Amino acid sequence: MITTTPMLDIKKIRKDFPNLDVTVHGKPLVYLDNAATTFKPQCVVDAVEQHYSQGASNVHRGVHYLSEKATEDFEGARRKVQNFIHAKHPSEIIFTRGTTESINLVVQSYGRAFLKEGDEIIITEMEHHSNIVPWQMLCEEKGCALKVVPFNEDAELIWEEFEKVLGPKTKFVSVVHISNSLGTINPIAKIIKAARQYDVPVLVDAAQSISHAPIDVQALDCDFLAFSGHKLFGPTGIGVLYGKTDLLEKMPPVQGGGDMIASVTFEKTTYNVLPYKFEAGTPHVAGVIGLGAAVDYVKSIGFDAIGEYKKDLLDYGTQVLQAVPGLRLIGTAKEKTSVLSFVLEGIHPHDIGTIVSDEGVAIRTGHHCTQPVMKHFKVPATSRASLTFYNTKEELDALVKAIEKVKDVFK
Ligand code: PMP
Repeated sequence: MITTTPMLDIKKIRKDFPNLDVTVHGKPLVYLDNAATTFKPQCVVDAVEQHYSQGASNVHRGVHYLSEKATEDFEGARRKVQNFIHAKHPSEIIFTRGTTESINLVVQSYGRAFLKEGDEIIITEMEHHSNIVPWQMLCEEKGCALKVVPFNEDAELIWEEFEKVLGPKTKFVSVVHISNSLGTINPIAKIIKAARQYDVPVLVDAAQSISHAPIDVQALDCDFLAFSGHKLFGPTGIGVLYGKTDLLEKMPPVQGGGDMIASVTFEKTTYNVLPYKFEAGTPHVAGVIGLGAAVDYVKSIGFDAIGEYKKDLLDYGTQVLQAVPGLRLIGTAKEKTSVLSFVLEGIHPHDIGTIVSDEGVAIRTGHHCTQPVMKHFKVPATSRASLTFYNTKEELDALVKAIEKVKDVFK
């Protein structure tokens, strides 16, 4: 068998992203904050611009040309997302504002309807706040209990601890696929398989993983999957909740209004079919169309090539950062993606972030909406460089150089 190494033409790819040409403080921007949000390729910008300048119209409501065209593009994008994550039906794709809203939708609908006092919900110690707080709110309301699976010093989930909390009282499992502050890739398929013993629904927070590797929701057999368009090179303000039809069918809507109804009288309202039951009001039409363009773009590059390139970048970044005296990496799981969180002895991350920004380098500093992770490592915050396929080794060198500057300042 002949195997070929997929290669990326990075120079060409970088030309697709106009935002990479920005200069900061007179220096070329080095953008290493992709876990927060990704830049948009020109084709996404064009798709959004095209909708607003040539095709602006509401969807599902008009019979005039533009409305029909907008509806076609909107529903076409839904099918693109369906194919991208290999959902069985387009109606299993619900458009939301993002991961946060997708998780809240499940909590507010499934959680309020089907969970009760004494039920247990399993999450992990490395969740983003958006997969902690909505569940805490539900627990307060319903008297459910949150069970948290801890991780070890390499930031890997402790499997035995998961097995310990999983049991007949477990009624929901909600787990982050890839941690945004640690880069850890969790064994999501194994978690779902284990949860099946108790016939418990599993939600996967795919905010970070959606741009990392192909996700096949049918092969994974997850019940819900949440992600945001803006972390997949698409627009902000648009996201997806995937849900299995049988679950979505029995869940009540969370928001009432236009589009989500079949009929309305003052005596009784009946609800629309999926996915519209969960999409009240005018949706983010341009955002959905932009997301469809983003999906096309990622597919055109291909996850094989993306994965290989990012792995190489991560290895290089790990190596050059580890060589910086006084720097400690936070998050050293064997299975991890291109997130490099670190602390520098005696220097607060906010000072690091500010000084490297003066050098044109954009990293994120803070708790990354994962305060329990910071507590685990006994640090107030970390600095985080998060990489994607348009980043280069030269940019990582620029980060190291900027860190040396920080150290000089604090000498
Ligand atoms: N989960 C994870 C793992 C994330 O990284 C993020 C964004 N940082 C979210 C959830 C929330 O995503 P959004 O703010 O787009 O709703």
